[in-house]
Order: sequence, then structure tokens, then C-alpha cells
Amino acid sequence: MSAFTDELVKTCRGQVLLDGAIPAKLLSDFIGALKGHAEAYLKAADRDDVIAAVKLAAAHHVSVTVRSGGTNLVGATVPDGGLVLDVSGLNRVLDFDAANMCVTVEPGITQKDLIAYVESRGFIYPPDPAEKLGTIGGNVSTNAGGMRAVKYGVTRDFVLALELVRPDGEVITLGRRVRKNATGLNLKEIVIGSEGGFGVITKVTLKLVPKPESSLSALLCYRSLDDACRSVNAILGAHLDPTAVEFQERKVIAFAEKFCGKAFPEPSSKAYLIVTFDGTPQSVKERVARCKEVAASCGCFALIPLDDEKITADIWEVRGAVARAVNATGPWEPVDTVVPLDQIAAFMERVGRISEEEGVRALGFGHAGDGNVHLCVLRDAIPKAQWPKRLDRTLARIYDAAYELGGLISGEHGIGKAKRKYFLEHADPSERELMLGVKRSFDPENRFNPHDAYAL
Ligand SMILES: Cc1cc2nc3c(=O)[nH]c(=O)nc-3n(C[C@H](O)[C@H](O)[C@H](O)COP(=O)(O)OP(=O)(O)OC[C@H]3O[C@@H](n4cnc5c(N)ncnc54)[C@H](O)[C@@H]3O)c2cc1C
Repeated sequence: MSAFTDELVKTCRGQVLLDGAIPAKLLSDFIGALKGHAEAYLKAADRDDVIAAVKLAAAHHVSVTVRSGGTNLVGATVPDGGLVLDVSGLNRVLDFDAANMCVTVEPGITQKDLIAYVESRGFIYPPDPAEKLGTIGGNVSTNAGGMRAVKYGVTRDFVLALELVRPDGEVITLGRRVRKNATGLNLKEIVIGSEGGFGVITKVTLKLVPKPESSLSALLCYRSLDDACRSVNAILGAHLDPTAVEFQERKVIAFAEKFCGKAFPEPSSKAYLIVTFDGTPQSVKERVARCKEVAASCGCFALIPLDDEKITADIWEVRGAVARAVNATGPWEPVDTVVPLDQIAAFMERVGRISEEEGVRALGFGHAGDGNVHLCVLRDAIPKAQWPKRLDRTLARIYDAAYELGGLISGEHGIGKAKRKYFLEHADPSERELMLGVKRSFDPENRFNPHDAYAL
């Protein structure tokens, strides 16, 4: 034991595991392709434990990898030594404030538990990342998005305030229980999306929205991916105020169907959109009908309103299982590119060409309503020894294509360790220098998630 681990064991009340005793899954992310190592792992018992561990790490100049649900897809929780500080045990609701329509929670509360809590009180928390076992601390740290971002926005748009344990152990609160804030630089915004690089978030106050009266989705079927992509712009431009506009290639849905043992309708489709509307029962029905007309003019050959409980449940189950289904088939790499709305079709065409030329399958799905294109890049039968090089070349070309079309590497998953190389290749030098300056002012010793995008 080092002096650091010795003191950690004596000071903290949460579970401590040392080096060889830390299970591999606590040293990785959801995919598990990258494996890290750490001197110690602490599952913090409470906020005091977090503060004590951060102060100890500072005194011993030990690096800290913050971990919560561990569902990230970018190697963000893959440590290169030091302490893994797991905050998933800090999972209480601290305060529910109906008058100000907000809730204050600890960072380890899962999205699933938060949703159940606020919906039972007549509210929704609109950000809707597909992985419900991700936690609010993780969502805030990655600025997670989700299906409802088209109408409501992403995590950033719902964080009123947060508490941060800074790398030296000092605790600060950024933001307040207010809806507007023009009081000085808005540092809260900088911490949102900082991927654990600026300290540990120990408390978050989130804005809520009254639960919509009703919600209706529709499945739209297309004979080509191109038609589906072009339809997105038409639907968004038709004043229909959709909550979600999702797209899926038929090929990716086939994986999830097999995984779940459930089927999507119209299997001859090459691509699908799922469009959701919130509002009064009358209004959502009218907007679905109007959506049918708009989509038909772009090649939609069938629109199925999801008003049958069983079909709807099956469709959402299959859609929600895509990442897990692909994960179960073997090695793959998730891609989270975002492009301007009018470039989705062009981007998918470029991806198709790259995929063919490189002999690497890349299947698409994602949040079409905000240009966020997810790809599953599959190893299939490519020999293990060839995979890293083939994957790297394919990814480099896909990211080049995204940038050439005005897009970026990540819409919602963040950069982490896995995408750092591509991020650095494309980062504007002045912008990067400013980012490093911000990182230095929060974490001058570069100890928090030093493997991540913002590391010095
Ligand atoms: C099947 C599947 C579907 C997904 N769908 C979506 C989706 O629709 N949208 C989306 O945005 N993401 C999605 N994700 C990715 C993932 O769920 C999100 O990135 C989520 O925000 C991670 O939360 P987590 O609690 O698991 O965080 P972790 O994976 O534990 O950590 C993620 C990052 O946040 C940091 N962090 C975590 N907690 C704290 C804290 N308290 N203080 C400071 N830093 C912290 C970590 O250091 C790390 O950098 C999906 C993942 C899977 C597996």
C-alpha cells in the first residue's frame, strides 16, 4: 500500500478496492474495448467521502477518474493509474420544489429513478438519453442528449445549478434556482460537458416541465435511406413542432429485432423514421395526419400511428435495444457525429461510400431531428490483428467527412479517451488553447480525468 491508499482506507467510509482487486468492468466503459488500471477504487459513501478523497488525492498529487453509471461509450472512465472515484452511491433526491418546477438530486441518481420520481408528481424531465441506467452526474458531465432534444433541448438546457468539488477539495455552487442568469461569466455552463475534467459534481438542480396531456408517435417507412433523411427537413419545416424525430436504417433494426425477439412492421423498408408529438389528444392526432402528407411527398410509403399499446411497446423496445444488440454481436465502435440538418443525407451517402471502399460495415441510426447521426462500425469477420488499423482508417475518413460537411465528432456522447485523437486532429488551435486555459484554471495539475479531451 502507498501512503495515499493507506490514508484512503483509513479516512473514507465507502468501499475501497486496491489495484489487483478492482474488477475490470470498473476500469472501463460500457463497451469494454479499452481497459485501464488504477491504484485504488473508492465507491464513495456520501458527499463527505467525496470531499475527503479529493483532498487526499490533492495532497498526494494522485490523478482522479470520476465514475458514475459507467455507461459512457467513449472510454471516459478508463483510468491511467490513480484513483477511480465512483459516485454512483450518491443517489438521493434532496429536494422537490413544485412551485419553482425543479428538483435537486445527488449525482448518482439514475435517469430511470429520476423519471419515475418526477412523473409520479406530474412533471417530466425532458432530456431523454436512451440509456436509463446512466446517472444525472454522468448526463451533466457529458451534456447528454436524447430523443426529445428536438423540442426541449439537451441536458444543458435543464441544469439550473450544480455543486462542484474542485480538484483541491473546495466546494462551490454554480448557478441558482433561477431561470435566467446574466450575472458574471456563466461557469456552470463550462462545467456541463467537461467530462469529469474539472472536479466532481455532487449536487444538481434540474428544471422540470409539466407532463404533456398526451403524446403520440408514428412509424414512417421508406424505400431508401435517402428519402428518409430528406423527409426530416420537410417535417421540421412544416410547423408540426415534433418532440422527437429518430431515424434507423433497416439493417440496424434487424440486429435489435433478433436481440429482442420482436419485429418492426413493414420489413421491406430500407429505413424508418419515428416521429413523436406532445400536446392535447386532438392536436397530436392532427399533427400526425399532417405529418403523413408531408412525409408522403418525400417517399414515405406507410405511416403507422403508434396508438396500439402492444405495437408501440415493441417498437420502442426494439429501438431502445440497438446499442445492446450490436454490442452482443462482437467488437464494434460507436460513432456519434453531428452534422447540419440539411447534410444528413449527404453524410450518410459519404459513409456508405467509405464503408464500401474500406470493407467495414457502418450502420446508421440516430436523432435525425438534430442532425445527430450514430453509426455502429462493426468488426464482423475482419481478423483481430487487422481491426485497429482498419477501424482507425475508417473512423478518420468518417470524421473528415463530417467536418467537411460542417459537422463535428460528437453530438452527445463526448470525446473521452476513445475519440481524443480525432478531436485533437480537427480542433482549431486557438479554440483548443482557450479550452486548455479553462482546464488549467480548474485543474492546474491536470489530475482530473487526465486521459480526456480537455487534458493538458
Ligand atoms: C445503450 C446506450 C444508449 C445510450 N444512449 C445515449 C443517448 O441517447 N444520449 C446520450 O447522450 N448518451 C447516450 N449513451 C451514453 C451514456 O449513457 C451517457 O454518456 C451518460 O451521460 C453517461 O452517464 P453515466 O452515469 O453512465 O456516466 P459515466 O459513464 O460513469 O461517466 C461519463 C463521464 O462523466 C464523468 N462523470 C460522471 N459522473 C460525474 C460527476 N458526478 N462529476 C464529474 N464527472 C462525472 C466521468 O468522469 C466521465 O467522463 C448511451 C449509452 C448506452 C450504453
